[in-house]
Amino acid sequence: MAGTKFAYVRNFELPDPLLPDTYLVCRLDGHSFHRFSDEHGFTKPNDERALQLMDHAAKSAMIEFKDIMLAFGESDEFSFLFRKSTNLYNRRHSKILTTLTSYFTSCYVLNWSQYFPDTPLRYPPSFDGRIVVYPTERAIRDYFSWRQADTHINNLYNTTFWALVQKGGQTTTEAHATLRGTVSATKHEMLFSRFGVNYNEISQRFKKGSVVVREIVAPEPSDKGEYIERDESPECSGASNPLTNIPPHSQSTNEADETPKFDPPRQKHSKAKKKNKLETTVEILHCDIIGDEFWLVRPQLLE
Ligand code: ATP
Ligand code: ATP
Ligand code: MG
Ligand code: MG
Ligand code: MG
Ligand code: MG
Ligand code: MG
Repeated sequence: MAGTKFAYVRNFELPDPLLPDTYLVCRLDGHSFHRFSDEHGFTKPNDERALQLMDHAAKSAMIEFKDIMLAFGESDEFSFLFRKSTNLYNRRHSKILTTLTSYFTSCYVLNWSQYFPDTPLRYPPSFDGRIVVYPTERAIRDYFSWRQADTHINNLYNTTFWALVQKGGQTTTEAHATLRGTVSATKHEMLFSRFGVNYNEISQRFKKGSVVVREIVAPEPSDKGEYIERDESPECSGASNPLTNIPPHSQSTNEADETPKFDPPRQKHSKAKKKNKLETTVEILHCDIIGDEFWLVRPQLLE
């Protein structure tokens, strides 16, 4: 590479590859969403519009990033599972993390008014993100069980807490004190006897969180390995947007080559699709993912 005398500074940019042949889990979490939810009048304990907006952003991200097989969301967080063979951006840690985090955040902002038509955004929300590498199927199963169990524990606590405040007339400090040290059965009982709430009848969305899953539409026995998205073209997907013609975040790039580019027109992505790939669709569910059933019928998630 012909360089100037300044070009050596590039050598200070160190490679940051993620271990090959391991599952990648990227978890995003809203920054200071306690404040964000207050300032935007989220309903407590669960604002359904806000959860739907999170789901929408997660689904858009999965349509854009084809190697994400599964996502799980609760509250202000979402975890994304990349298949272990992914070669997205040559598995560069920062590149994957920053691109997914900013894409998700953009989708959240882009779709805000669809879910909050009467509430203007007062300031730009942001999300933190981390990638954790897991070596085994067991660890991935346990990771998602951990998040879904957390959803249940938080929801039971928050549901009881807000019943004490909204229906029981307690201050938030008093409600925290009332709940200190209580076990799950006590909270169920408190909800039922004091507020007439049967916890089992609460929405699955709140109890189970959101499971966004890449489902195979029409498997053919000869097909192997790669997945393509149905051309459903939602707003936040560059993958199939004929106006922008932006390639999806699905190929690795060689960025060592700094030769000035002409900026040639990008090849239209749809032409690059191969016929022998499995057709997939991205679905949003609110089901159990701790037991075996969910995983047994979807072996593609962990292959
Ligand atoms: P941090 O920046 O450390 O993540 P945080 O304020 O975002 O701080 P979290 O532990 O992530 O803290 O909790 C997110 C908070 O956002 C919840 O406690 C809740 O108050 C609020 N929140 C998020 N989503 C919703 C929702 N759908 N409905 C109501 N409140 C929500
Ligand atoms: P990567 O995703 O790997 O970063 P990239 O296409 O974004 O790929 P960069 O090396 O980051 O490549 O270069 C950014 C490119 O964006 C420039 O080469 C140029 O073509 C274009 N670009 C950025 N800012 C401007 C601008 N203000 N006016 C015109 N073109 C721009
Ligand atoms: Mg956080
Ligand atoms: Mg948060
Ligand atoms: Mg959180
Ligand atoms: Mg760039
Ligand atoms: Mg650049």
